Amino acid sequence: MINKPRLEGKVALITGGASGIGEASARLFLEHGARVVIADVQDELGHKVVTSCNSPNISYVHCDVREEGEVAHAVAQTLAEYGGLDVLFSNAGVMGPMTSLLEMDLEAFDTTMAINVRGVAATIKHAARAMVARKVCGSIICTASVAAFLGGAAPHGYTVSKHAMLGLMKTACNELGAHGIRVNCVSPFGVATPMSCKAYGLEPSQVEAGCCEKANLKGVVLKPSHVAEAALFLASDDSAYVSGQSLGVDGGFSVVSHSYT
Ligand code: NAD
Repeated sequence: MINKPRLEGKVALITGGASGIGEASARLFLEHGARVVIADVQDELGHKVVTSCNSPNISYVHCDVREEGEVAHAVAQTLAEYGGLDVLFSNAGVMGPMTSLLEMDLEAFDTTMAINVRGVAATIKHAARAMVARKVCGSIICTASVAAFLGGAAPHGYTVSKHAMLGLMKTACNELGAHGIRVNCVSPFGVATPMSCKAYGLEPSQVEAGCCEKANLKGVVLKPSHVAEAALFLASDDSAYVSGQSLGVDGGFSVVSHSYT
């Protein structure tokens, strides 16, 4: 049986790493031999994750992805701490409230775009600069969503932001391929995390129950760890020639008809 660590010797920066999918990915990447920096705005939670890992190979940096200076600092901190940057998992995101288009809160729309699109662009820019300067054939992964393909699965601003993320991923793939850098997305279905619970005003068990009801693939509850496994594949050399793709972690939800279900 082959059971080798898949990120041995690599350094990864994970935004939104203090919670949910980012936290699960930080723990998994660490298990697979990476040195990991988690960047987030929830400092207490971020430090808690680091402390609970009890390893010198994981650290926390405060970074609001809306602030370009803070993004540049997070990249610089990663380089200073672990001597390189091979993987960016640009995962931080917000959902905003689920409302009718007729009642849409445009302030919340702007915030969603600032974090989910502009913030991701800033992280790609600064991580790619570091990779190009060091001639690192790195891997950049962004967290999109089934809402990158479908209308009506999430709030309006969120849906727009995740569609935009696919464009960002493709244009980054186009330019960065010349430097040997791969750019992909993971696109999950519904996971019970603080973000989704807040957006729908539900407890985690209620979000899970709602997702199970709507899911195409029955019998499996989607967990942050399932998404982390997909991100691990895209981060590792196992996906050495995969670029410009969105890897759905949605049990088929985004490709089947929902009309008669
Ligand atoms: P989460 O709330 O557990 O994690 C999101 C993290 O992003 C939090 O730690 C939060 O503090 C951080 N964050 C928010 N704004 C930030 C900012 N301005 N700068 C830096 N960090 C910031 O939620 P999650 O579900 O794990 O979300 C992670 C990603 O997964 C998001 O991009 C989300 O859109 C995507 N996603 C989630 C689901 C789902 O159902 N939960 C489905 C598809 C995609």
